[in-house]
Amino acid sequence: MELYIHLPFCAQKCRYCDFASYAGCEHQMASYVDALLCEAAVQAERLHHPPMDTVFIGGGTPSLLPAPLLDRLLTGIRQLFLFADDVEFSTEANPGTLTEDWLKTAVCHGVNRLSMGMQAYQPELLRTLGRIHDFTQVERSVAMARAAGISNISLDLMFGLPGQTRAQWLETLHAALTLHPQHLSCYGLIPEDGTPLKADLDAGRLTLPDEETERTMYDDALVLLAGHGFEQYEISNFALPGCACRHNLGYWQQIPYLGLGASASSMLTDSPGCAYTRETNPAAIDAYISMVQQQQWSQRECISITPREAMFETMMLGLRTNAGVSEAAFLQRHGTSLEQRYGQQLHSLQTRGLLTHRDGSWTLTRRGMDVQNAILVELMDD
Ligand code: SF4
Repeated sequence: MELYIHLPFCAQKCRYCDFASYAGCEHQMASYVDALLCEAAVQAERLHHPPMDTVFIGGGTPSLLPAPLLDRLLTGIRQLFLFADDVEFSTEANPGTLTEDWLKTAVCHGVNRLSMGMQAYQPELLRTLGRIHDFTQVERSVAMARAAGISNISLDLMFGLPGQTRAQWLETLHAALTLHPQHLSCYGLIPEDGTPLKADLDAGRLTLPDEETERTMYDDALVLLAGHGFEQYEISNFALPGCACRHNLGYWQQIPYLGLGASASSMLTDSPGCAYTRETNPAAIDAYISMVQQQQWSQRECISITPREAMFETMMLGLRTNAGVSEAAFLQRHGTSLEQRYGQQLHSLQTRGLLTHRDGSWTLTRRGMDVQNAILVELMDD
């Protein structure tokens, strides 16, 4: 099983962000950690203290939590769940918020992987995004993390930003590579409704690069990172050999997970009559704390995933990865062959050059990656 812990606090809300993250809520940190520990205790009991193969602390900005609170949280969590000997224990962090104390505390509790939001190299693009840091702070944070003993470092980068040129994207990639990360995530910007950035785009105050430029930027990442020894293992994720994020791979492979905290989801397989259930906590900090304090677990949104829906999720998640969807794994998981369930659509997509079939697995072609959503619609509409 995998464990996810959500820390929703941020120093400032980025202009493109629609995650469950909140600025100016530091006064709620202590009661939030209390609520997390209470929820963790209830879930540990319910699930019989499952061993965890991977742990991921995400946000928000986990590095904003003061070190003593992080210590309290991780001490409690480690008492409730058994961590595998080779646990992959990741936390997200943001440059400009990371401190030596925080890193020392994290490492002391077993954190061995750090994922940092660098996003772009150029100060003007970071400003457009509403990020609080500059590249110097990224460099400093990476050096601090290494000095604290974390050798597995991932950087998040974004392309397709308003006003971003291809040359700037290449400069961002090269700058990230100078920091020798083990892992890079390269995300194309998706302007989300309700964000200030989307409002600026809608009003014409900002302009996105055209589709062709964005596709070229993505290709630039594929070529440059391959040339530096990175293996692409998912549409947006690249790692040096042996450094793929096991937590994310587990998610794409539908390994059950427990999510703790505001907006966190769990995927649990203990319900009869459905493939699994997905439970999601309230997104607002107040609502989450109050649900836990009053033990009103029914406030979680609970969705039963039918066996048919679970098959579609296998396709949706598996096709994101370079390993693709394995026929053997599909049959073992669902008791139905991939050919029987999706044969017609898969062969049609293969004929059109959007999927390939190799060694018993189906994967997206490069062209298929560009129209991934349309492919999923085809697989859904049968
Ligand atoms: S740091 Fe991350 S979670 Fe926080 S506001 Fe920015 S994008 Fe959102």
